[in-house]
Amino acid sequence: MSPITPPNERKCLRCGRLEVWDDDNTVWVAATVDGEPQRGTRHCVHEWNVTGTYNPITPQ
Ligand SMILES: [Zn+2]
Repeated sequence: MSPITPPNERKCLRCGRLEVWDDDNTVWVAATVDGEPQRGTRHCVHEWNVTGTYNPITPQ
């Protein structure tokens, strides 16, 4: 297997929410910067800076 480093963080272009990929729980979680969770705006329809072509969830 050749290891490929997948994108493991993404940022919302609209509100600045920053998320990191949690491998253990297979979910995106808000990243913490300087002790502050980067949750952005709750009602934002987030637009991520990663392309839609990459799906971090491997089909079983
Ligand atoms: Zn957003």
